[in-house]
Amino acid sequence: MVKANLNFAKLPQRYLFLDIAKRVAAFSEKHPEADIIRMGIGDVTRPLAPAVIDAMHKAVDECADKSTFHGYGPERGYQWLREAIVKGDYAPLGVELTAEDIFINDGAKSDTGNIGDILSSDNLVGITDPVYPVYVDTNLMRGFNIKYIICNEENGFTGDIPTEKLDIVYLCYPNNPTGAVITRDKLKKWVDYALENGSLIMYDSAYEAFIRDPLIPHSIYEIEGAKKCAIEFRSFSKTAGFTGVRCGYTVVPRELEVSDGNGGKIALNGMWERRQSCKFNGASYISQCGALAVYTPEGQKQIRSTIDYYLETARIIRQSLNEAGLKALGGENAPYIWAQTPGGISSWEFFDRLLGEAGVVVTPGSGFGPAGEGWFRITSFADRQRTIEAMERIKKIL
Ligand SMILES: *Cc1c(COP(=O)(O)O)cnc(C)c1O
Repeated sequence: MVKANLNFAKLPQRYLFLDIAKRVAAFSEKHPEADIIRMGIGDVTRPLAPAVIDAMHKAVDECADKSTFHGYGPERGYQWLREAIVKGDYAPLGVELTAEDIFINDGAKSDTGNIGDILSSDNLVGITDPVYPVYVDTNLMRGFNIKYIICNEENGFTGDIPTEKLDIVYLCYPNNPTGAVITRDKLKKWVDYALENGSLIMYDSAYEAFIRDPLIPHSIYEIEGAKKCAIEFRSFSKTAGFTGVRCGYTVVPRELEVSDGNGGKIALNGMWERRQSCKFNGASYISQCGALAVYTPEGQKQIRSTIDYYLETARIIRQSLNEAGLKALGGENAPYIWAQTPGGISSWEFFDRLLGEAGVVVTPGSGFGPAGEGWFRITSFADRQRTIEAMERIKKIL
């Protein structure tokens, strides 16, 4: 008989969102009159920017005509979008990249999951705890060994620089689920660690558009030497509401090299191009036209106003939780608020209490890893009025 990939047996059972759904369904059944407010969702809720909508309509119309129809595009993505990214996202930071360093994809999740294709599974992988589960699961599927980097209040949820040698390290800032950001100094420590140890950093900056503090870095390439040790993942999902449209990009700088196993070096840019040309046929023309519109002056203005809306909701949440006597972090340069449960009770205990007494659904922190125990995540992607109502209810029960 054919054998399955037995690495799948090592995957943690991820019942988190299923568990939440089950508990909410059981509660609704008992209390059909209950008006439940969902503050646990990790998906955006505001519509796409008008500039994006116009660009995608135009792209569809082009495809309706033989003379302007678009079939397969370049596997790396259209040159015009890659150039707009270099000019719009990196030049203002003083980061020098070229279109050849950029790979357009159908969202950051695919590439954060697939990047392991070009690396040996002998590498030891460092992953933060708590964490966005994709990094853990995809590395386990490929047979990588994982060391967890504990993120807690003491280290500002940015992890202590390891004393041992890790080959690959996944970092995500602004962070999902904790809403934490990383300072330039701390990020420099990670880059220096990677350069000293010959390690590779996988930097997920899917939430960089939420950064408002001018001192917080948007890209790891703002740190000197990072082009020699880091891959960066970005996405239009949270930046511009593309969770359903699907478009993102990965930066693999041409100077980024790893060991070829024979005492020599090999550039990851060429390997990733080879991998993408073989297994990926490019993001849709229509999505890429929508993404290009993000870089127009109207597009920039429109997405900024949507993010401002989420950030104001986040501010209300953080302030309300603080007023209710809870310790609430994040939400200033990120859409997520990370708050401590009262009286040291467990994440799930507090989840049940919020659901039962206030009819409010949050995400238990322990669902993102053992270090998340005693915390919970609230997202600012919920409706403003419903958020205010949820905060009133939480204040009443505490
Ligand atoms: C939402 C999110 C992404 C983006 O995923 P897409 O596939 O681009 O929609 C990437 N990383 C993290 C941590 C996220 O929360």
